[in-house]
Amino acid sequence: MDIAIHPLDPAKRRPKPADKDLVFGRVFTDHMFVMDWTRGKDWHDPRVIPYQDFKLDPAAMVLHYGQGIFEGLKAYRWPGDKINMFRSDQNWQRWNRSARRMCMPEMDPSVQVAALDALLSLDKDWVPRSVGSSLYVRPAMIANEPHLGVRPADQYIYFLITGPVGAYYAEGFSPTKIYVSDEYVRSVRGGIGEAKTMGNYAASLFAAEIAKKKGFTQVLWLDAIERRYVEEVGTSNIFFRIGNELITPALTGSILPGVTRDTVLTLAKNWGITCTERTISIDEVIDTIKSGDMKDIFATGTAAVISPVGQISYRDELFTVGDGGVGELSLRLYNEIIGIQYGEKKDTFGWMRQLNV
Ligand SMILES: *Cc1c(COP(=O)(O)O)cnc(C)c1O
Repeated sequence: MDIAIHPLDPAKRRPKPADKDLVFGRVFTDHMFVMDWTRGKDWHDPRVIPYQDFKLDPAAMVLHYGQGIFEGLKAYRWPGDKINMFRSDQNWQRWNRSARRMCMPEMDPSVQVAALDALLSLDKDWVPRSVGSSLYVRPAMIANEPHLGVRPADQYIYFLITGPVGAYYAEGFSPTKIYVSDEYVRSVRGGIGEAKTMGNYAASLFAAEIAKKKGFTQVLWLDAIERRYVEEVGTSNIFFRIGNELITPALTGSILPGVTRDTVLTLAKNWGITCTERTISIDEVIDTIKSGDMKDIFATGTAAVISPVGQISYRDELFTVGDGGVGELSLRLYNEIIGIQYGEKKDTFGWMRQLNV
């Protein structure tokens, strides 16, 4: 692939925030990677250009019908200044599954790798150095064909933007309060919940606002049909530790198959913990909390890695998980995953990939 490189005028470089001032998703690096797809012509014109606005026709199909997908991953600076990605092959496979579900063109994973290498060859100084910080990587694809008619578009833009993000738990690893929504749902089996596509996030906003107004951090989503089985929490997967068993909802079509979810299952099995992927009802969750057998509840995702749940509100009653503190397994998983990501622990499963920058 012949990538055109158009570097930013060095005099126009953006100011880099101090590591202590990093917030999620606000600051972006000097450059972006862009590529076009046209039906009959495949992917063409790969280029690295200065970070800038898009020119989009107001009739661009994504603006009306939401045909768009994305991914989210992180680049970590290792001792010795090499830059590494965690299980990015999983993200590229999921990208192609999302693309297929949304009738969008797939992309060879080697192209994703080449795009990231090309972009970070210019922007590698943006990968922060302090412990726990990283460079967030956001590839996305949108339908930009100008056409007001509902059908798969004939034209797409792929773009890759990145931005430095701080340690998620700057103030320490603390449990969240979550709110069970039994009125609104995020996704339904047979729908688009298992794809990382824009509409799912629009669908989640209303219930998330209700939860926030009531003083909760996130929504715990139930299945759309019976409003009974637990699916996810916010934009993360969820785990329950009951006795020595670790349970997470099975992937039945309405749940996003998280890379962190798979990582937790792999590590826990390796540690001799019984892992079960099955449906788990909210009644079982509440009864187990009440009986004292619920040892740990936590959410998993790339941004926070592990997010322990301290309290759950269901039908106007508040339940505290254990003593409301951080569970032992949450902490062990967090330390192990972070350790592997930052090159401080042995990468037994071959999860890390060094960037060629
Ligand atoms: C991205 C995402 C997750 C977490 O996936 P990771 O690959 O672990 O980052 C979980 N649920 C939803 C809805 C998501 O969008």
